[in-house]
Parts: sequence; structure tokens; C-alpha cells
Amino acid sequence: MRPIIIAANWKMNTTPSDAGPLAAAIAAATDAPDVVRVICPPYVCLAPVREALAGTGVAVGAQNVHVMAAGAFTGEIGAAMLAGLADWCIVGHSERRRDQHETDELVGRKLARCLESGLRPIWCVGEQLDEREAGRAEAVVREQVREALTAGGLADGAWSSSIVIAYEPVWAIGTGRTARGSDAAAMAGAIRAALEENGWSHAQAETVPILYGGSVTSASIGEFLAEPAIDGALVGGASLKPDEMAGIVARAATTAAARRAAAG
Ligand code: PEP
Repeated sequence: MRPIIIAANWKMNTTPSDAGPLAAAIAAATDAPDVVRVICPPYVCLAPVREALAGTGVAVGAQNVHVMAAGAFTGEIGAAMLAGLADWCIVGHSERRRDQHETDELVGRKLARCLESGLRPIWCVGEQLDEREAGRAEAVVREQVREALTAGGLADGAWSSSIVIAYEPVWAIGTGRTARGSDAAAMAGAIRAALEENGWSHAQAETVPILYGGSVTSASIGEFLAEPAIDGALVGGASLKPDEMAGIVARAATTAAARRAAAG
């Protein structure tokens, strides 16, 4: 049975002084041991968030990592620097693809860097609006999967149990628009098919959790978790609100209990 995961992407919000109290408030409002909870604050807030979350069961993630291990890369953060601060890392978020021109080739190499450094990557994929309107959404995402697996040397599926994929249609991020649950589920199927086409076994592709991301709120999460192919959410804007996170995680806990009961 795949875990249910709710990951919070705080983006470029919070400061070292307010991040800890916010993380603590979210942890208190989302006490659900059957749901894997992850908070990804900005780098400078990792330490206070880690401290605030100690003993709560909520994990900490970074929002990015540099592809190289160390060296002359002014202003960058390498995976080894995150040791003791973060156990997870978002890779390939569409805002970085847009603003830092990250390619699937770079995303694949960053995935490999995370995995060999002990960070669990949340690997973001997703199509643009014009690509969906042209009927090319699944082809685009399948190609994203192929390129990153190839570049990262990940086609043998050896790391399948450490990877989490977030399907985030770019047109749904921060816009208030969401995909339909059925479309997200269809895309999860296409992603798993692409993993298999590129070398993973069926069992490996079935093991990887696939989250939906794009304007998820406590009101919309149910539509996605009703789909058996979807295993949680990557939440941006709503993840800064403890009440919203409480509702999202409560719904996720219901799903986790139902899936456990169905699995016997
Ligand atoms: C995200 O940042 O990954 C995201 C999905 O943001 P939002 O929930 O605000 O759309």
C-alpha cells in the first residue's frame, strides 16, 4: 500500500522568526500519524522549522538543491549542507523551470544528487495550459519523465522506493484553478506507464506515490484523494494556513484509513 503524503511548499514566504511558530501550529492542527506530513520552508527557515517540528512526526524538506556536490557556485546550496536540516527536497518545481530555466535533464541529475545524498525527492512534472488545450498533456509529461530518468541514470528503478512524484499542471499552480480529479488520475496512470516504458518494473511503477498539486485547498482535496491513483498533495498557498492544512490532512487521514481497510 502506498503512503498518503501531504507536502507543504511555502515557496518564498516566512522568515526565520515566524517560520517555527507557523510550523508548530500546523503540526498541532494536523496530528494524523497515518499521513506523511512534510513542510518545505525556505532554506533560511529550515533550522527553526526543524527545531519546532522535533517530536511531532512532521518531516522537513528543502525546496531545491544544487546539482553539484560542492564548489564555486556562489549563492547555491548543496545536498551535504542540508544534512540534519531536511530529509526531503522538491525537485523540478515549475516555478524553477520558469524562472531558473531548469530543464528535464537538470531535473534528472538533481534527482540523482538527492537520492545519493539521502534526500527523498518530490519530483514535479506537469504541462502548460496550451499543451493541455492541444491534447498533448500526457505526451509532454511522459517526455518529462523519460528525459529526467535518462539524465539521472534512474531508468533501472533502483531508487523507486525513495522517489515521490508530484503531478502539477502549471496552469493550476497559484491560480485558484484545479485540474479535475479524473484528469489527475489519468495523468498518474500515464506517469506510471512512462516509468515502465523507460525501464522500471510494473511493481516499481506501482510503488511510487503520485501527488497532485495545483491550488489544492481543504475544499478541493477530496476530489483528488477519491482517486485511487492519487496518493496525496503538494500544497502551496493553502499550506501557509494552519486551518487549511488541518482540513487537508484530516481528509487525507480518512483516505489513509479507508485504503488500509480496503487492503485488509
Ligand atoms: C506548489 O507550489 O507546488 C503549488 C501547487 O502551489 P499552489 O497550491 O499555491 O497552487
